Amino acid sequence: MSLLCDRSNGTGRRVVIIPLPYLGHMTPMFRLAAALHARGHAITVLHTELHAPDPASYPSDYRFVGVGVPAAELPAASEDIAAFLVALNDSCAAAFKDRLAAMLAAEGSVCCVVTDVVWFSAQAAARELGVPALALMTSSAASFRTFMAYPALLANGHLPYDESRRDHLVEELPPFRVRDLQRIDTSSLDTFAGLLERFVDGARRSSGLILNTFHSIEDQEVRNIRDGLAVPVFPVGPLNKISSSPPPLPQDQDQDQDCLILDWLDTKPTGSVLFVSLGSVATVDAQELAELARGLADTGHPFLWVVRPGMIRGGPPDLDLELPADRGMVVPWAPQEEVLRHAAVGAFLTHSGWNSTVEALSEGVPMACLPCFGDQLGTARYACHVWRVGVEVQGIKRDTVRSAIHRLMGPGAIEEGKEIRERAHDLKSKVGQSIAQGGSSHMALLGLLEKIACF
Ligand code: UDP
Repeated sequence: MSLLCDRSNGTGRRVVIIPLPYLGHMTPMFRLAAALHARGHAITVLHTELHAPDPASYPSDYRFVGVGVPAAELPAASEDIAAFLVALNDSCAAAFKDRLAAMLAAEGSVCCVVTDVVWFSAQAAARELGVPALALMTSSAASFRTFMAYPALLANGHLPYDESRRDHLVEELPPFRVRDLQRIDTSSLDTFAGLLERFVDGARRSSGLILNTFHSIEDQEVRNIRDGLAVPVFPVGPLNKISSSPPPLPQDQDQDQDCLILDWLDTKPTGSVLFVSLGSVATVDAQELAELARGLADTGHPFLWVVRPGMIRGGPPDLDLELPADRGMVVPWAPQEEVLRHAAVGAFLTHSGWNSTVEALSEGVPMACLPCFGDQLGTARYACHVWRVGVEVQGIKRDTVRSAIHRLMGPGAIEEGKEIRERAHDLKSKVGQSIAQGGSSHMALLGLLEKIACF
């Protein structure tokens, strides 16, 4: 394609990416960068020193520029994340402008900036300097639509969340019920709503919005965003399948442990193992951990369970999880995509984080959805009731865990589980069609490259 940069002489135009320092945000941003790099663009990563990426893990021609932040650690899921994100944006605003101005002065070839949607201060810095800025939404289109609808949700009384209305359908935002609406219970609703308004404003004033989603799962949601934003929208996902050689995750992974996990999976029959992970941020208390352990033990299925250090509120519990040693493997971290790709894995008990969800869809793995907060609530709704490739786990209780897994995996032939597996298999094929030559995500990526070429 003539519009693509010529990488052969190393003169590709430079794209500055600005990832948010959360794993679930960094991973898709680096995957997008890898896709642009593979098509000839030079990459500069403008990052915070909080969870700074390790340059040694990326192609040697990536450049890295740091911005200091006052916080030494990300807040726990139980803290006020919305207030933290406002403060993080405010504290980085001047440094973003300063570093970008220096790059523009030094490197005439910088053609655009791609920021996480959450970095509204970076969007503002780019606008003030007159450099085109694209925004990447690392979660679903439905989640971005919720951002856009938030003022109406508040005005029409769907929020603050009222437990007695939990199952009411939200007419402004189908297919959501009140309980599926995005919220962070540990943050003030006003702060959260104000934050979302700034995300939407940043995207509205950007040169385009990139979405980690694809036509077959969120066609209408993408159309609604297009209508509402009036900027180009590029649904290029799932990004885990777009980058043929994804960069290493910005997370220390123990490769020996990864091998042990995959060797253990090799010993298990096809479709027999339940993979359990609640992502990189969600936490549970000791009681919930014990209930989950008992529910898993009750299922009778082998399971691989990620229990991150720091995942348990109040520190590691002083209790015996009573796990069946011969059937369960508990690890602090797993090579999730490889695990989901493994034939032994029959189902995924997930917190419904967006990356985990699209990774499971990409491999055709059915899900038991246990959303914890934020966009996970709405994503679980889509997985279970729109795409119908999962079942809801109604709270962390021994019985709810056991019965959700039973519906998916048996024991015994369960018609519901069979149909869910068939639909999951079908969606996996649709992922393949989307990213193939001429598929919707492939065309969106070409559109994005064309847009960048015109800057
Ligand atoms: N992940 C992983 N190994 C684990 C747990 C998580 O590789 O043991 C990865 C997972 O593949 C996904 C990311 O961490 O890419 C989690 O992102 P997601 O959006 O699902 O959830 P978050 O962590 O943002 O809540």
